[in-house]
Amino acid sequence: MNKLQITTAAKGQTRFVLKGVRVPQWTLPKAKFVESLDITVANGLIEAISPHSPTTNEILGLDLQGALLMPLMVDAHTHLDKTLTRNRMGDITPGLLGAIHAMMADKTHWTPEDVHQRASQALEWSYAAGVQHVRTHCDWWEPQTQPIAWQVLNDLATEWQGKIHIERASLIPLHLYADRDQAFALAKQVAASGPGALLGGFVHTSNWNFQALENLLDAAQAHELNLDLHMDEELNPNAQGLLRTTEIMQKIKFAGHVVCGHTCALSAQDSALALRTLDEVAKVNMSLVTLPLTNLLLQDAVTGKTPTQRGLTLVQEASARGIPVMVASGNVQDPFCTFGSYDPLEALSVGALAAQMPNVFDEATQSICRIDWLTGQASQPSFEIGKPANFMVLTQANIWGFPSQTHDRVVFRNGEVSPS
Ligand SMILES: [Zn+2]
Repeated sequence: MNKLQITTAAKGQTRFVLKGVRVPQWTLPKAKFVESLDITVANGLIEAISPHSPTTNEILGLDLQGALLMPLMVDAHTHLDKTLTRNRMGDITPGLLGAIHAMMADKTHWTPEDVHQRASQALEWSYAAGVQHVRTHCDWWEPQTQPIAWQVLNDLATEWQGKIHIERASLIPLHLYADRDQAFALAKQVAASGPGALLGGFVHTSNWNFQALENLLDAAQAHELNLDLHMDEELNPNAQGLLRTTEIMQKIKFAGHVVCGHTCALSAQDSALALRTLDEVAKVNMSLVTLPLTNLLLQDAVTGKTPTQRGLTLVQEASARGIPVMVASGNVQDPFCTFGSYDPLEALSVGALAAQMPNVFDEATQSICRIDWLTGQASQPSFEIGKPANFMVLTQANIWGFPSQTHDRVVFRNGEVSPS
């Protein structure tokens, strides 16, 4: 059945069975997993999960013939304040610094209305793709003044309640934490912003300051904030932000959860150092996020030169150590990345190729679905009897080609086909 057929058949039905679907192995306890399942939906909830039976009964059965079914998605790292600005910029010097320069020039356009309009468009795309949870970063360059976008993103979190859960992380350059009192004042402001706010930072060799990093973690600890850091987004093998963060976390017994995005430098370092760093990451409460589209476009970017260093973090080595590694959209249609569509499956598709990820459907889909990996909270079973029927059916995809052929997608929210 294709999207139109499923949508037509399920319309107005409060009880039906999706027959013969294939779910990722990680979504069910090992003992319950079989290749082909029937999932019964009743009144918006999952009523039953059972091995596929070809027999029909009194309930409306939709024969999906092996179509893939997976949980709704999380986009772990986005920039809703910057997004959809690329079309109003001219030529940009390739690389991170050129992008930052172009972004600074564009900020004169960032009124509340402008940010709201662009971020809303982004969320529409996310919602249509089947996303249920988005974490966005928000540029924060003044120590005393909250950026305009911080409040706009909070308003959007309220507007989108019940559809997409939105978290905000303050993207503050590391040097603003160099003064200890200021670091604590920043953390206090973020903590006062309400639930869904995280303390963030931009950690790079160009602004490296160990004391500032220590202040940042101490301030987060004092205000019971989780962290989301832009970490070592570069190919400089001397970048040490990730390793030092793990050391500080162990020293101060950091109680919260830390997400480190990018960590590109691991790919440029001597492998003994990079692997030792990952051993330390595995000891602390930390997840990594890789941004394949952004990294492939920004790292080793020189006009007239084909890049050879691709900047993707050590996804396989981290996963082998039990470190949660997420894949996210990152920058979308802004000066940092001109591509993107807020479809985490697009990011996973690029990431799976670039990092040569094995078992993409059965294992790597965790990287775009596991909210607990992003938040550090206890894991929850994805599909369980009595839980809301939130998932999507990929009618044309198969596990070997996944995530190719995933455009024909039927998103179910609370047991109903979600408009897209
Ligand atoms: Zn980012």
